[in-house]
Amino acid sequence: MGDDEVLAGPDGVRAWQEPLYRDLHAHPELSHQEHRTATVVAERLRATGCEVHDGIGGTGVVGLLRNGDGPTVLLRADMDALPVREATGLPYASTDTSADGEPLMHACGHDVHVACLLGAVALLAEGAPTWSGTLVAVFQPAEETADGARGMLDDGLADLVGHVDVAMAQHVLPLPAGTVGTRSGPTLSAADSLRITVHGRGAHGSMPQAAVDPVVLAAMIVVRLQTVVAREVAPGDTAVLTVGSVQAGTASNVIPDHAELQLNVRTYDDGVRSRVLAAVDRIVRAECAASGSPREPEIELFDRYPLTDNDAAVTARVAAAFAQHFGDDAGVLPQQSASEDFGHLPVALGAPSTYWGIGGTDADAYRTAEEAGRVAQDVPVNHSATFAPVLQPTLDTGTRALVVAALAWLTPA
Ligand SMILES: [Zn+2]
Ligand SMILES: [Zn+2]
Repeated sequence: MGDDEVLAGPDGVRAWQEPLYRDLHAHPELSHQEHRTATVVAERLRATGCEVHDGIGGTGVVGLLRNGDGPTVLLRADMDALPVREATGLPYASTDTSADGEPLMHACGHDVHVACLLGAVALLAEGAPTWSGTLVAVFQPAEETADGARGMLDDGLADLVGHVDVAMAQHVLPLPAGTVGTRSGPTLSAADSLRITVHGRGAHGSMPQAAVDPVVLAAMIVVRLQTVVAREVAPGDTAVLTVGSVQAGTASNVIPDHAELQLNVRTYDDGVRSRVLAAVDRIVRAECAASGSPREPEIELFDRYPLTDNDAAVTARVAAAFAQHFGDDAGVLPQQSASEDFGHLPVALGAPSTYWGIGGTDADAYRTAEEAGRVAQDVPVNHSATFAPVLQPTLDTGTRALVVAALAWLTPA
């Protein structure tokens, strides 16, 4: 194992990695607008001697470290932030806004992912004499809008990187800082959003006989959709179907001519996923027919995230390497209800993959909350205005995790 030799240098990395992280945190950018971030990434990759390709899928950046024969390992970090007004009180909190004046915040910790991957690339570049193979560092835009990985693939990522033996990524989560967690099999849910427009016939509120009422139609759909998970998904399978928005009409005495519903579906199995989506389609069309709707409904799928399904063999290899390096701080990651578009990369590249979690919550604060049974209430989670990963040991742990996982695949020299 070359881990110890490669990881002997994190002190040198920390000197630029910590200020770089604070700078990224102070200057978040929305999905597809990661121009400044991409520039910072490309500059740092060039400084570490990588072959750099930028502008992939918009603002995506790829750093290639070709170091002789051996496996190709792909590591991916996402770069985008969210329209959230930061309330962490950190000295490096964001006060930036978008061009439209929206407050911006790295509320999902993607700045941690970028800083850690840059650190890992630098350590592996310095430690190049100890390993051989190829390292592909992918800095992906637009994870939060579910289309950044797809965009890089559509823009030729597969041709650029060639054969990939393994693809890996990580996420900072509300778990104790300093810990890492791996999980085999379905780890993050698949997600689908649907926008459904159903059509009626408008009329005066006092003359229902002249109308096809889309409000009643939409209400019937909402109720009937509750039977999908209750009556069509097997008890051992998991699915969530939420109708998050119903919009129709403008006045009490006007029957409108259409209604719009927005749904969100989460599943952990591709078979369950297709069954649930087919049931939604069937129920919506049948309720429209039952109401005498004058037109077929429009059903549009958007914000679709693939299932993050960790390969068993890859996960076992990474988990063993983590156990050796992190000892008791390496454990099993609980299944997460959030979603990720990372899964598009390994599927398109034909590479097995794994995706792990690193803690970002101050370990003492986490323990206090745990002892009080108040983790869910007291520990800020991703996307909240107070999500503030502690700088260390979070950056150090995320950097080490990437290096250790990569070296579990790269050939020792
Ligand atoms: Zn997020
Ligand atoms: Zn995220």
